[in-house]
Amino acid sequence: MVNQIEVAVCKDCGQGFPAQDVSRRGLCPRCGLARMYSATNQIRNKCGPVYERWRLGVQAAKGAK
Ligand SMILES: [Zn+2]
Repeated sequence: MVNQIEVAVCKDCGQGFPAQDVSRRGLCPRCGLARMYSATNQIRNKCGPVYERWRLGVQAAKGAK
């Protein structure tokens, strides 16, 4: 019996990984972590596209006009 491993390609680095190691957003563990750190830093520094999106989300949640 052949043990077939599904391979998924990471959206960021383009490398193939076992499907269970790639996140739902299509990132391998390393790129997923890198994006998470990047997002955390953007929110901490209050600048960058991730921060802008997060800010709009917070405003929407607060019911801002
Ligand atoms: Zn990757």
